[in-house]
Amino acid sequence: MSSTSASPKIRVATTWLDGCSGCHMSFLDLDERLFELAQRVEMVHGPLVDTKSLPERVDIGIIEGSISTEEDLVKARAFRRRCTRLVSLGDCAVNGNVPALRNRFPLAEVTDRAFRETVTLQPMVPSQGVPKLLKMVLPVHGVVAVDVYIPGCPPSADTIWYVLSELFAGRAPNPSEVTRFGA
Ligand code: SF4
Repeated sequence: MSSTSASPKIRVATTWLDGCSGCHMSFLDLDERLFELAQRVEMVHGPLVDTKSLPERVDIGIIEGSISTEEDLVKARAFRRRCTRLVSLGDCAVNGNVPALRNRFPLAEVTDRAFRETVTLQPMVPSQGVPKLLKMVLPVHGVVAVDVYIPGCPPSADTIWYVLSELFAGRAPNPSEVTRFGA
């Protein structure tokens, strides 16, 4: 009697950089579709799972948030190196969105405003235990090549489901058919 082996699961990793986690919350809004996802996908890394180190080989990497710190740079580059397909999830990842509002001002002015001018108790710009801010906030594709862009703030669960389903089927999704900036 011949035996059939189940197809290997698709290895997916996610991360959030400079964002509000809203895009990941939208991911969780897949609700009962998460059960179907669990049949097909192994979540190998990300804030939604316990595994915190990024494996060497990942099929689909999903990045929420923009590149605002040196730590974000390192994470985005690691995702690009290790993920076959890289997805920019949400407006912050795709175009900088809210985090990039600070690009209109010199970084020193921004940090002074946030940590000195508007603080009454021990005003000081933190320098220890926090990642160093970049002078400018960048979208993910400002640092590494991106394969799929999903606009939206956040993109809806239906949009995320559409993109994942297309990728799982080996097709190139066109998210602009189902979402737009600020959607
Ligand atoms: S795109 Fe919107 S929901 Fe997603 S991380 Fe940015 S601000 Fe939050």
